[in-house]
Amino acid sequence: MELIALPAFADNYIWLMHKDHHALVVDPGDSAPVLAWMQKHPGVQLDTILVTHHHADHTGGLLELVNRTGARVLGPALEEMPVTAQGLVQGDVVDWHELSFDVHEVPGHTLGHIAFWTQPPGQDAVLFCGDTLFSGGCGRLFEGTPAQMLDSLDRLAALPGNTRVCCAHEYTLSNLRFALAVEPGNPALVSHAGLCTRLREQGLPTLPVALHTERAINPFLRSRENSISAAVRLHNQQAVDAVSTFAALRQWKNEFR
Ligand code: ZN
Ligand code: FE
Repeated sequence: MELIALPAFADNYIWLMHKDHHALVVDPGDSAPVLAWMQKHPGVQLDTILVTHHHADHTGGLLELVNRTGARVLGPALEEMPVTAQGLVQGDVVDWHELSFDVHEVPGHTLGHIAFWTQPPGQDAVLFCGDTLFSGGCGRLFEGTPAQMLDSLDRLAALPGNTRVCCAHEYTLSNLRFALAVEPGNPALVSHAGLCTRLREQGLPTLPVALHTERAINPFLRSRENSISAAVRLHNQQAVDAVSTFAALRQWKNEFR
């Protein structure tokens, strides 16, 4: 099982899984990078497309890919898709050759947002989390509440620590700049920021990232830690419990330059 990040637009990744003569993609906002990959791998058939949420940078390539390949599309039952799609809800399982993907509802960025988790035999698990969890950050709350997003992130953070987290955007360096402002004394964060800076200097993705790394460095998974809640409270005195602290942290990030 090969896991590939196809860059799209300025900072999106379209994740592709490849096994024998079959391929699957996640959140194809643009068909061109997928079609270019297919052209370089003749004989491989794109048979399945997974979608995490309705935003155009995740769905814009669906129509052309379906027309060209006949691939089936599976996406959130609670959101409108631009093509016919099988609607998925919490607890559904998507079978794809020898893999099965658990579907998790993770509202916050959008109300119907879902994530996909799978355990390939003999490899570390894989999570496709769209715009919910980013390395060092999380998605903006366009539709959901802070309480919903905190609960969604808590449930993703509880997945096995060796899970390879496949986010839909390369936002890592700017997220880590904010994370360092919140928690400058976190040695794991300082060293991970150094690693990611070197990767980006070489033009390499910072993803996937291990979930156990995210638990150690991502302020949005760590908002109950004293180091973080104290920093948030200095910034916003309304941060008095888990949800208000998370909300204030997200607001601080929105305003951070
Ligand atoms: Zn989005
Ligand atoms: Fe996006």
